[in-house]
Amino acid sequence: MEQFHETMAGATVTRMLVGPLLTNCYLVQSGTELMLVDPGMVWNRELEEVATVIESANARLRWIVCTHGHFDHISGVDTAMRRFPDATLLMDPREVELARDPIANYAAQMGSMFAMHAEPSPLTTGQELPLGLITYHVATIHGHTPASSVLITGDHAFVGDTLFAGSVGRTPSQKEFEQLLAGIRATLMSLPPATRIFPGHGEPTTIAAEMGANPWL
Ligand SMILES: [Zn+2]
Repeated sequence: MEQFHETMAGATVTRMLVGPLLTNCYLVQSGTELMLVDPGMVWNRELEEVATVIESANARLRWIVCTHGHFDHISGVDTAMRRFPDATLLMDPREVELARDPIANYAAQMGSMFAMHAEPSPLTTGQELPLGLITYHVATIHGHTPASSVLITGDHAFVGDTLFAGSVGRTPSQKEFEQLLAGIRATLMSLPPATRIFPGHGEPTTIAAEMGANPWL
């Protein structure tokens, strides 16, 4: 499993590539607290590797957050919750419906019948997620899925499959595509240009880089 580390203000971000679609699963440490974003682990080996990274951090796993309900962002969630039962699982209620349906969450397309069994607490627009020395602000962007969550703090943001380096998320139709672009413009492109963007797949980027080079924006 490939891992990349970045030091942000008040937090360290570890990016781990998991699953057949190389989903970015992030582990954030701030102070003595940890947050795991998008546990898309599939195979036992990588479930074990991610658990080992968490356990060797010498900090408490406080939050497990799923940005949306697609298979490649949730497939390790039940195993992770069994291994770390004191963590709180957070997902937008509209995404839980997807997560529980192997056709809607695209597991079936990947030859799996995965459906999430864990019971998440609601993640909603305007919510604040404290983690150690920093706090994430939760916002919702519609279009890639009904209610994708993004987590924003001072110098960085986790954006799931809404915005990628040089691209944007896939949508079921033109209507959702317009919603997605409007959401990205209103919620993300208004952030300070230096804001580091951690997407659900591919390399991290910045708002300034996407303003300059993303053909969709
Ligand atoms: Zn997705």
